[in-house]
Amino acid sequence: MDELIDEMKKRLLAKQAELRRELGQDVVSCRQIGEACIETRDAIDLIPLGEEREIVHHRGNSHSIILRMVDEALVRINVGSYGICLNCGEEIPASRLNAVPWARFCAACQARLERKSGQQEVARSAPISF
Ligand SMILES: [Zn+2]
Repeated sequence: MDELIDEMKKRLLAKQAELRRELGQDVVSCRQIGEACIETRDAIDLIPLGEEREIVHHRGNSHSIILRMVDEALVRINVGSYGICLNCGEEIPASRLNAVPWARFCAACQARLERKSGQQEVARSAPISF
Protein backbone atom coordinates (compact mmCIF):
# COMPACT_ATOMS: atom_id res chain seq x y z
CA MET A 1 0.00 0.00 0.00
CA ASP A 2 2.89 2.39 0.81
CA GLU A 3 4.42 1.91 -2.62
CA LEU A 4 1.07 2.56 -4.20
CA ILE A 5 0.72 5.80 -2.22
CA ASP A 6 4.21 6.93 -3.31
CA GLU A 7 3.29 6.23 -6.91
CA MET A 8 -0.05 8.03 -6.56
CA LYS A 9 1.62 11.00 -4.90
CA LYS A 10 3.98 11.37 -7.87
CA ARG A 11 1.08 11.16 -10.29
CA LEU A 12 -1.03 13.61 -8.27
CA LEU A 13 1.83 16.13 -8.10
CA ALA A 14 2.36 15.80 -11.87
CA LYS A 15 -1.37 16.24 -12.47
CA GLN A 16 -1.45 19.23 -10.12
CA ALA A 17 1.39 20.93 -12.05
CA GLU A 18 -0.27 20.12 -15.38
CA LEU A 19 -3.66 21.51 -14.27
CA ARG A 20 -2.10 24.66 -12.83
CA ARG A 21 -0.26 25.21 -16.10
CA GLU A 22 -3.42 24.69 -18.14
CA LEU A 23 -5.47 26.92 -15.86
CA GLY A 24 -2.84 29.62 -16.32
CA GLN A 25 -3.09 29.23 -20.08
CA ASP A 26 -6.86 29.47 -19.91
CA VAL A 27 -6.59 32.81 -18.15
CA VAL A 28 -4.27 34.09 -20.88
CA SER A 29 -6.45 32.91 -23.76
CA CYS A 30 -9.51 34.37 -22.00
CA ARG A 31 -7.77 37.71 -21.73
CA GLN A 32 -6.77 37.59 -25.38
CA ILE A 33 -10.36 36.90 -26.43
CA GLY A 34 -11.50 39.74 -24.17
CA GLU A 35 -9.14 42.14 -25.90
CA ALA A 36 -10.35 40.93 -29.28
CA CYS A 37 -13.90 41.73 -28.11
CA ILE A 38 -12.96 45.28 -27.25
CA GLU A 39 -10.99 45.86 -30.45
CA THR A 40 -13.73 44.63 -32.73
CA ARG A 41 -16.70 45.84 -30.71
CA ASP A 42 -17.95 48.31 -33.32
CA ALA A 43 -17.09 46.19 -36.32
CA ILE A 44 -18.69 42.76 -35.80
CA ASP A 45 -21.33 40.86 -33.90
CA LEU A 46 -19.95 40.06 -30.43
CA ILE A 47 -21.96 36.88 -29.78
CA PRO A 48 -19.54 34.35 -31.33
CA LEU A 49 -16.64 35.80 -29.32
CA GLY A 50 -18.77 35.75 -26.18
CA GLU A 51 -19.60 32.07 -26.71
CA GLU A 52 -15.96 31.23 -27.19
CA ARG A 53 -15.15 32.98 -23.94
CA GLU A 54 -17.86 30.97 -22.16
CA ILE A 55 -16.33 27.72 -23.39
CA VAL A 56 -12.92 28.79 -22.08
CA HIS A 57 -14.50 29.55 -18.71
CA HIS A 58 -16.25 26.18 -18.57
CA ARG A 59 -13.04 24.36 -19.43
CA GLY A 60 -11.29 26.35 -16.71
CA ASN A 61 -13.99 25.39 -14.21
CA SER A 62 -13.74 21.65 -14.82
CA HIS A 63 -9.96 21.92 -14.52
CA SER A 64 -10.24 23.79 -11.24
CA ILE A 65 -12.68 21.16 -9.87
CA ILE A 66 -10.20 18.38 -10.67
CA LEU A 67 -7.35 20.50 -9.30
CA ARG A 68 -9.27 20.86 -6.03
CA MET A 69 -9.78 17.08 -5.83
CA VAL A 70 -6.07 16.53 -6.59
CA ASP A 71 -5.17 19.02 -3.81
CA GLU A 72 -7.50 17.20 -1.39
CA ALA A 73 -6.00 13.83 -2.32
CA LEU A 74 -2.50 15.16 -1.56
CA VAL A 75 -3.76 16.42 1.81
CA ARG A 76 -5.20 12.96 2.53
CA ILE A 77 -1.80 11.42 1.67
CA ASN A 78 -0.18 13.79 4.19
CA VAL A 79 -2.64 12.98 6.97
CA GLY A 80 -2.61 9.25 6.19
CA SER A 81 -6.22 8.81 5.09
CA TYR A 82 -5.50 8.42 1.39
CA GLY A 83 -7.20 5.50 -0.35
CA ILE A 84 -10.03 5.31 2.22
CA CYS A 85 -13.56 5.90 0.97
CA LEU A 86 -14.90 9.13 2.49
CA ASN A 87 -18.38 7.65 2.63
CA CYS A 88 -18.07 4.09 4.00
CA GLY A 89 -14.46 4.07 5.30
CA GLU A 90 -13.49 1.01 3.24
CA GLU A 91 -10.21 0.89 1.31
CA ILE A 92 -10.55 2.04 -2.28
CA PRO A 93 -9.18 -0.76 -4.52
CA ALA A 94 -5.74 -0.06 -6.06
CA SER A 95 -7.18 -0.59 -9.54
CA ARG A 96 -9.59 2.30 -8.98
CA LEU A 97 -6.85 4.56 -7.59
CA ASN A 98 -4.72 3.71 -10.62
CA ALA A 99 -7.54 4.85 -12.89
CA VAL A 100 -8.49 7.90 -10.76
CA PRO A 101 -5.68 8.80 -8.31
CA TRP A 102 -7.85 11.54 -6.73
CA ALA A 103 -10.88 9.24 -6.20
CA ARG A 104 -12.67 10.10 -2.93
CA PHE A 105 -15.11 7.19 -2.84
CA CYS A 106 -15.04 3.48 -3.60
CA ALA A 107 -16.84 2.49 -6.80
CA ALA A 108 -19.97 1.33 -4.93
CA CYS A 109 -20.34 4.61 -3.00
CA GLN A 110 -19.55 6.69 -6.09
CA ALA A 111 -22.31 4.91 -8.00
CA ARG A 112 -24.71 5.28 -5.07
CA LEU A 113 -23.96 9.01 -4.70
CA GLU A 114 -24.35 9.59 -8.43
CA ARG A 115 -27.67 7.77 -8.40
CA LYS A 116 -28.78 9.80 -5.40
CA SER A 117 -27.88 13.16 -6.97
CA GLY A 118 -29.61 12.00 -10.18
CA GLN A 119 -32.76 11.22 -8.19
CA GLN A 120 -32.61 14.62 -6.49
CA GLU A 121 -32.46 16.28 -9.90
CA VAL A 122 -35.59 14.38 -10.96
CA ALA A 123 -37.36 15.10 -7.67
CA ARG A 124 -36.64 18.82 -7.93
CA SER A 125 -37.98 19.11 -11.47
CA ALA A 126 -41.06 16.92 -10.87
CA PRO A 127 -44.28 18.60 -9.72
CA ILE A 128 -45.32 17.91 -6.10
CA SER A 129 -48.52 15.86 -6.26
CA PHE A 130 -49.53 15.48 -2.60
ZN1 LIG B 1 -17.39 3.50 -0.03
